[in-house]
Amino acid sequence: MQTSDLESRTQEIGRDLFARARRAEKSSPSDGLLDRMLMKWGMRDEQLKAQLFRFIDVLPVLSTPRQINSHLRECLGTVRARLPPGAGLALKMLPDDGWLGSRAAALTRSNTRRMARRFIAATDLPEAIRAVRSMRVLNLAFTIDLLGEAVLSATEAERYQAEYLHLIGGLTSAAADWPTNDLLDRDVATDGLLPRVNVSVKLSSLFSQFDPIDPAGTSAMVRIRLRPILRLARRTGAFVNIDMESYAYKDVTLRIFREVFAEDEFRDWADVGIAIQAYLRDCAQDLQALADWAVRRGTPVWVRLVKGAYWDYETVIAAQNDWPVPVFSEKSETDANFEAQTSFLIERHDVLRPAIASHNIRSIAHALAEAQSRGLPPRGYEFQMLYGMADPIKAALVELGHRVRIYTPYGQLLPGMAYLVRRLLENTSNESFLRAGFLENLPEEQLLMNPLELLRRKRHATGTGANGNGASFGRVASATRNSADFRNDPLTDFSREEARQSMRRALEEVRARLGGSIPLVIAGRRIETGKTIDSINPSRRDQLVGRVAAARIEDVNAAVRAAKTAFPEWRDTPVERRADLLSGSAHVLRRRRFELAAWEVFETAKQWREADADVAEAIDYCEYYAREMLRLARPRRRDLPGEENATFYEPRGVAVTIAPWNFPLAILCGMTAAALVTGNTAIMKPAEQSAVVAAKLMEVFEEAGFPPGVVNYLPGVGEEIGPALVGHPDVSMIAFTGSRAVGLVIQKQAAQVYEERGQDHIKRVITELGGKNAVIVDDDADLDEAVHGIVASAFGYAGQKCSACSRAIVLSPIYDAFLARLIEATRSLKVGPADDPAYSVGPVIDDDARRRIAQTIEQGKGEAKLVYAADVSSLAEQGCYVGPAIFADVPPASKLAQEEIFGPVLAVMRAQDLDEALAIANGTKYALTGGVFSRSPGNIERVRREFRVGNLYVNRKITGALVDRQPFGGFKLSGTGPKAGGSDYLPQFMVARTVTENTLRRGFAPTEVGETVLAAAGE
Ligand SMILES: Cc1cc2nc3c(=O)[nH]c(=O)nc-3n(C[C@H](O)[C@H](O)[C@H](O)COP(=O)(O)OP(=O)(O)OC[C@H]3O[C@@H](n4cnc5c(N)ncnc54)[C@H](O)[C@@H]3O)c2cc1C
Repeated sequence: MQTSDLESRTQEIGRDLFARARRAEKSSPSDGLLDRMLMKWGMRDEQLKAQLFRFIDVLPVLSTPRQINSHLRECLGTVRARLPPGAGLALKMLPDDGWLGSRAAALTRSNTRRMARRFIAATDLPEAIRAVRSMRVLNLAFTIDLLGEAVLSATEAERYQAEYLHLIGGLTSAAADWPTNDLLDRDVATDGLLPRVNVSVKLSSLFSQFDPIDPAGTSAMVRIRLRPILRLARRTGAFVNIDMESYAYKDVTLRIFREVFAEDEFRDWADVGIAIQAYLRDCAQDLQALADWAVRRGTPVWVRLVKGAYWDYETVIAAQNDWPVPVFSEKSETDANFEAQTSFLIERHDVLRPAIASHNIRSIAHALAEAQSRGLPPRGYEFQMLYGMADPIKAALVELGHRVRIYTPYGQLLPGMAYLVRRLLENTSNESFLRAGFLENLPEEQLLMNPLELLRRKRHATGTGANGNGASFGRVASATRNSADFRNDPLTDFSREEARQSMRRALEEVRARLGGSIPLVIAGRRIETGKTIDSINPSRRDQLVGRVAAARIEDVNAAVRAAKTAFPEWRDTPVERRADLLSGSAHVLRRRRFELAAWEVFETAKQWREADADVAEAIDYCEYYAREMLRLARPRRRDLPGEENATFYEPRGVAVTIAPWNFPLAILCGMTAAALVTGNTAIMKPAEQSAVVAAKLMEVFEEAGFPPGVVNYLPGVGEEIGPALVGHPDVSMIAFTGSRAVGLVIQKQAAQVYEERGQDHIKRVITELGGKNAVIVDDDADLDEAVHGIVASAFGYAGQKCSACSRAIVLSPIYDAFLARLIEATRSLKVGPADDPAYSVGPVIDDDARRRIAQTIEQGKGEAKLVYAADVSSLAEQGCYVGPAIFADVPPASKLAQEEIFGPVLAVMRAQDLDEALAIANGTKYALTGGVFSRSPGNIERVRREFRVGNLYVNRKITGALVDRQPFGGFKLSGTGPKAGGSDYLPQFMVARTVTENTLRRGFAPTEVGETVLAAAGE
């Protein structure tokens, strides 16, 4: 069929479908009042919609009328003015409890449950069987999907697997008695029978550590749990479809699909399928690859072609991370691609059996026209739609003799809420066909328009070219540098194969270079000292990362001399040049990104993502401080007629930067970059454990072009050279990040003024010290998110971050449920070497740390209940491993709750209410980071006000601060305050000078615009 014929046939079929659907709509019962109100409000007002959906999301965990009513008031209170007049008033008057309060709460609950039941077919197996049975009576086939909470542990994954086995077993035995329905069961293409039972499975639910960074390991683990499901399905005659989730999971999902169905046991099984998303730019390429694979396999598979359920999520995640947007940005592009891929599937139906999943009459009509034109008979392919949606369209297709399969979710209301909210969002989205066609009743002509034509018109109207609408979050040109244009360097997306390959290659290359000698660098000269420090890989004790020269006292003196000598010229170097050198350093860091990350993996046992983030942060510091300095370099003017005032900054002199090992590049780079760009000269004293990575930073600064002596590299044993450096009379300032004990000693040492040795200044000290960071878990928190966020905050990089969570303060009503899930989630973390992405927790930094942490755990048993401690004995020979440990019922005054441990040890504490939780949270000497998981707007507001920490995070993990977006640093005994990566930081490295000039000469003074005016005094 010609394109124009295909188009006119599509239009014809579309009009017919509309007519049939409208007839069916008239005869079907309409939606409930609440649904309609929600849809109407939601469509009118995005803010109101967001608040309504937030309330629906939290409702299942609210148990008392007081909780329900107060959440309703809090959620809708902020948008009360936008509610219809009656509703706004009712909300205001709503009592918390009493008869009226209880009635109102019960009504809210029953209405929401009813609405959920519109999209969720059943809550248990007997109900599910009844539901699908009645669908068959209406000539509708089904695929069942089990709704569940996020799978955070092996136990939860096993439960999910068991539920699927139960579901398949139950459905197939019930189905044995069902009469054959040719419309649903007869496969026209093969003239065989299709399975009556069809289930849809989400692979991420089968493995809690499902992670695209390790596709091989993830595939292996998922397949272990998937095979029993497949075996049972095959044996009992059920069909298994694999759902598609977010983009990050797409490649690994496709890989698992191909791997498992190429296994001998399943290779010749045709009753399997996978969902493919047409909103993805990769879609065509993936389908082509799938077709090629299916040819090699020798047995066809089904493809459920969908547009995709995560459009908003994908665009937000891409924007947040500054990654390329994987989805089309125009709805008509998705629609056009859906049609193109429909054509592809119909053409390749011999290997990819088409299941067209859409509620869009245009998309469906196109598929029908295409199938007709290629001679594919009805039921040689099928249509699929969601339960509770587009029932009139389903009826129209059935009337025309097509097989329509209903995606039928089943499960409890609580885990089902996320699904309900997704459906409501979909139905009220601006771009939704169902909204346009059946709620807003737009003209059919418009609804049936060819998406390519729509695109053409839109582009014509906006004047954009073929690719002009691809959202781009590209970087700004460096020529336009200023603080406002700063963008964080994107983290590497390890779900992409190219990224993983680059990292693997870098690890190989660096591995081959381990064990070299590393000299000091003073005034540009390499110096061996005859004394060395061995830097060892904590993951594998037998691996020497580098042999680093250890500075002696004479080297300290030489370094300070070199820095002092270089200072005057560097101070007077134009600030643009200094900023350029920092941007140049960022450039070198970018070029060496994977290599530097690989050094971190070996030397400090950072996992891939952690190491990559550390390099990105170093880049950010360089770019951000370069811009900040250009801003600060402009003198502050306060000019009056006859008087000019300028306040401007100057550097202090020689800065010593003393850095820890846990962010081996970023922190050292940040402190040193700040010192250098402000015009100080610097001596870098890295931690002994990360001196090799620091040497790489020195190389970066040298390559960028910093003159000799301006920056010097002085590794050594802290106790030996630290006091000499800090106390040196020619050192003007010290920037230190590390332990509280050492930080306080430095403060004291630096306070001593050695006038007799020529010291003519008071030293400035910046210290960033530790924390005893807490996360409060409110009684309405989303436990999926809270457990996930706390596990990441407490055990990421084995808890060795000053921002790490070491206390979880949980409100009593959910304490037990939280603790049970937390323990299981932690048990599922795999501990092992950092270079292997299969492991989510690595070793601690060295054996001293290992012993100290192990001892703390031992002693902690006397204070609280040790509810979980990972057994890492099998790794003891290999490296410095301490597995995650969790203490429960920890008393707030105990050492476990008060002292920083700097390892993977978490204290869980119970609080009766938010007052107590806040008192516990604030009840330490530290104030660095903190967090709260809550869905109560009122409680979140209160925690914002009263949880006094430097960095507070709401409903997310508490680690991973980004330069500029989250300037980092705390107060109390957590440090002296100025936030790294924020606008207060650079002024600490400078002194301010003010120059006032009297410009009045004999009664005349120049004005700002260069005129002269008669000064009032002279009149
Ligand atoms: C049986 C069935 C199973 C499904 N399984 C999955 C699955 O496994 N994984 C999955 O991700 N989805 C799945 N979906 C798809 C998804 O849940 C939506 O139902 C579907 O995308 C809606 O498309 P539509 O053609 O019905 O509606 P339409 O209203 O025509 O299209 C809406 C869709 O267009 C896309 N879109 C919206 N705005 C834009 C924009 N600005 N630019 C580009 N594209 C845009 C989005 O994908 C949105 O969902 C499934 C759908 C069905 C019916």
